[in-house]
Amino acid sequence: MRPLLARISLDALTHNLEIARRHAGSARILSVVKASAYGHGLARAARALVASDGFAVLNIDEAVQLRQMGIEQPILMLEGPFDAEEMAACAEFNLMPVLHSPHQLEWLGQAGKPLQVFVKINSGMNRLGFALADFETVVERVNAHPQVAEVALMTHFATADEDFGIDWQWQRFLEKALPTGLPISAANSAAILRYPETHRDWVRAGIMLYGASPFTDVSAAEVGLRPAMTLQSRIIALQSLKPGEAVGYGLTYMADEAVRVGIVACGYADGYPRHAPTGTPVLVNGRRTRTLGRVSMDMLAVDLTRLPDAGIGSPVVLWGEGMPVEDVARAAGTISYELLCALAPRVALHEE
Ligand SMILES: *Cc1c(COP(=O)(O)O)cnc(C)c1O
Repeated sequence: MRPLLARISLDALTHNLEIARRHAGSARILSVVKASAYGHGLARAARALVASDGFAVLNIDEAVQLRQMGIEQPILMLEGPFDAEEMAACAEFNLMPVLHSPHQLEWLGQAGKPLQVFVKINSGMNRLGFALADFETVVERVNAHPQVAEVALMTHFATADEDFGIDWQWQRFLEKALPTGLPISAANSAAILRYPETHRDWVRAGIMLYGASPFTDVSAAEVGLRPAMTLQSRIIALQSLKPGEAVGYGLTYMADEAVRVGIVACGYADGYPRHAPTGTPVLVNGRRTRTLGRVSMDMLAVDLTRLPDAGIGSPVVLWGEGMPVEDVARAAGTISYELLCALAPRVALHEE
């Protein structure tokens, strides 16, 4: 059998929720399980995260799946209903829609019973949310709607993980939100870890639950997070390059000395980034080395020159335990989120 698989540690997920809990204090934690729980599997992650105060998903079918597996906590629909029928589904399955645009308010009448809603305010990201200028009008209209039972206010930070910080958004949001006395949800993982003042009533924990750091300057280990996914494989072939010889498509890596190459069963069709250049870190036999040349569809090459013990069958960790996914992401010019979410369906997930 092809030796590639992703191990998913339920313990790590539960542990990371504990870390979120320690930071969030009395705020309630919505565990964000969109995109198949960032590639870890929705049902599996929800089971490991059952101590969450609620969950946040993107699609109705994800929410229904959580309900069908017996999840009773509140479920937030992150982008709200996409059509009027979904507003009715929110009522049927007791889901909390995010209302971010005027056209969604038109659908409220079809809910069938009063809902707990989150009104999303655009405080500067300019993606979803009502304009700050319309804040009072919108909140008043939603509050007074017969199909609305409870209202919370929500906003999303564009730079919580960057030096720019959150103040520029937080201050203008808070100025409007505070006087209403309504519950507030603003913090994503970065803000949970770095900006306690934003925790308020509900926090939305995503990437940190999966054991990756949202920051470029602080590692996951430094904040006590454990990787929940370990993508692992084995060496399936060996090559010896003489100086001037290359490996892989395009001959982009050329040896300038005698180089021992290991071929790993993992490629871009598995979700490993094709744009990861020569030098992307990888673990072989528990030791850090580097990729060589272009990533192929089903294989990639690694440098074994300084790992004489490595050979056919040697274990390889592409990311996860011992090989932070953030480091691989950085080398490949992307973020951990993208790597985790892009894990291909053909990679078997092994729960442990
Ligand atoms: C995905 C998402 C989150 C989680 O963000 P992380 O950076 O993964 O913690 C929070 N809020 C909203 C609105 C989201 O879409």
